[in-house]
Amino acid sequence: MTFISRRAMTRLAALLAFLPAVAHAQAALTPQNSKWLPPPEYDKPFAGKLLTIERGDAKEMTARCPKTVFTPTLACTWRRENGERCDVLIANDDLLKAQGWTYEHVWRHERAHCVGWPQSHPGQRKGTLND
Ligand SMILES: [Zn+2]
Repeated sequence: MTFISRRAMTRLAALLAFLPAVAHAQAALTPQNSKWLPPPEYDKPFAGKLLTIERGDAKEMTARCPKTVFTPTLACTWRRENGERCDVLIANDDLLKAQGWTYEHVWRHERAHCVGWPQSHPGQRKGTLND
């Protein structure tokens, strides 16, 4: 007997995978040049019951998160129990910095996935932490 249904446990892995793919250009995606910011309707505090945030090293990010354009993946989020629970794994500061990101940028992005922003990133936009 489990508290969480099998369906709810199905991992909804929401990724830092920005859609304008770097098919030709190899410029790294950073908060300055990518649409990392969620639309206003998802850009707000998580209102569920339980939020966990873990930090990971490269080995852990690779093992636990799906592949993205980032190596290793910078973060991944599991929204569970109809959005009442959210578990987030974010790369450590060294890994973020090496790819031009900060914890504040990545958390704000992942927080939106906790709130319910779909993995396909509808309405994604450019912006700064002040937006
Ligand atoms: Zn995302």
